[in-house]
Amino acid sequence: MAVEHKEKAGLLRRLPAVDRVLAVLEPATTDRGIPRSVLVKSVRETLDALRAQILNGRPELDESALDEVAVARRAARLARRRMQPNLCRTINATGVVVHTNLGRSRLAAAAMEQLQVIAGGYSNLEFDLATGKRGSRYSAVEDLLCEITGAEAGLVVNNCAAAVLITLDTLARDREVIVSRGELVEIGGSFRVPDIMAKSGARLREVGTTNRTHRRDYENAINDRTALLLKVHQSNFAISGFTKAVSLSELVALGHRHQLPVVEDLGSGTFIDFSQYGLFPEPTVQSSVNAGIDIVTFSGDKLLGGPQAGVLVGRKEWIDRIKANPLNRAMRIDKMTLTAFESTLRLYRDEPQAVAEIPTLRMLTEPLAVTTARTDRLAARLNALGQGQLTIKTEPAVARAGGGSLPLLEIPSRCLMVQREGLSAQALERFMRRQHPPVIGRIENDHFVMDLKTVQEDELATIETAFRHLLDKELQ
Ligand SMILES: *Cc1c(COP(=O)(O)O)cnc(C)c1O
Repeated sequence: MAVEHKEKAGLLRRLPAVDRVLAVLEPATTDRGIPRSVLVKSVRETLDALRAQILNGRPELDESALDEVAVARRAARLARRRMQPNLCRTINATGVVVHTNLGRSRLAAAAMEQLQVIAGGYSNLEFDLATGKRGSRYSAVEDLLCEITGAEAGLVVNNCAAAVLITLDTLARDREVIVSRGELVEIGGSFRVPDIMAKSGARLREVGTTNRTHRRDYENAINDRTALLLKVHQSNFAISGFTKAVSLSELVALGHRHQLPVVEDLGSGTFIDFSQYGLFPEPTVQSSVNAGIDIVTFSGDKLLGGPQAGVLVGRKEWIDRIKANPLNRAMRIDKMTLTAFESTLRLYRDEPQAVAEIPTLRMLTEPLAVTTARTDRLAARLNALGQGQLTIKTEPAVARAGGGSLPLLEIPSRCLMVQREGLSAQALERFMRRQHPPVIGRIENDHFVMDLKTVQEDELATIETAFRHLLDKELQ
């Protein structure tokens, strides 16, 4: 024990001082433009890690790891890692198109171009160029929203959860909101409809049962404290079997007979009818507006394929009241969201153009033959690269819309399954996840699996490079 203690003390004494490591490190790294503060922090952390290693008595610690050159080398690696952006581009090989963990929707090229222009300069964000007076930041998108959806008015806030919150806060504070029990949903990321209601100060009046709600259930619940009727789209699950829900037009008729606004939270709002593309039908925003809805809320970055935003469209009298709510100031979108959203909306004026240019729509509607051809191309490239060191096969797969949209939709896709002898699927998955950029796939039946539905043609070379690194590493 005492001997061990003495050994540890000896090792600790051998640790070089911060300045001595920096003296080795600085001349070697200045040309890489790493700020001194980052170098100092990296040296301190490297020394702390070594100190902890010594105190824990980890046997693999070699004395040569303690000289200043070795410590400097280790600190330099850490400093270089620190210089990489934390938020980085990734390759989505999961086949989940609107992947919440991977940033939901990719922006269209038109949106990114406009983003560059607006973010880097001044703009007429709140300046009316016609009158030379102060303007509204929402005018850039409100007209387009009305043009596309047929609604009287529109507003955009930070996300759909905010859109629901501000709607209920404005129209139903301290009053009752009637909603079917089957629609009290949790969207994920801890967004629960009942919690949002509680925060807004609205009181929840649940009607019906989980699987069946009738018109008379709503009707019997209406009283003089009722503020509105709410319909929540069951976007991330489906109830099947013995079910009954009241249709939107029935609900609108009922609400209006009682002078009550009817609000629908669509979540995954879409402007295009996916059934035309052989996909599972999802209610469109236009169909809600046509049904006479007072307000419909939906996300900007789910099926719409734009930036993160929450959209409200509907009757002007209600939207005007929501605009005047002080919460609107706290939920307002910035110029980058606004310009990306405007550019995305402009593409919707021509549906074929929207489907071709908005990545989310393009991926969802891509014919299987195209996905298969891309999968085969990657398989051929990896086979050529692997020279027998990689086992590669392709198989049918099921891609998903994701992001709490189109829950039942199974999109036929094709995946590539890879094995590397002597390496577990877990180790392979981890290696791919740690590349620059990371390649995110999944593990299935002891294979690393990549679904090519969500991989773009120009990303194939990046995946090939990641596998080249894998093979190079093994050769060393
Ligand atoms: C996803 C979703 C939301 C939340 O939308 P965010 O834009 O993520 O805030 C709200 N309601 C429904 C029905 C949803 O599907």
